[in-house]
Amino acid sequence: MKPSARPTKVCPVCRRPFQWRKKWAKVWDEVIYCSERCRRNRKPRSLLLTKRADSAHSASHEKDV
Ligand SMILES: [Zn+2]
Repeated sequence: MKPSARPTKVCPVCRRPFQWRKKWAKVWDEVIYCSERCRRNRKPRSLLLTKRADSAHSASHEKDV
């Protein structure tokens, strides 16, 4: 297979295209990230933490009353 004929994907973490590698020959369909590092860096949407701070504030307010 020519290098130019190899399939590529775009990593959702670093947004860079990466190319098929021999080690992925059997799992290419399941490969999403370009590297182990990006796989770990994927960001779950955890913005709800700010909401938790809000409810903690109102809870302490109720205690005062
Ligand atoms: Zn990446």
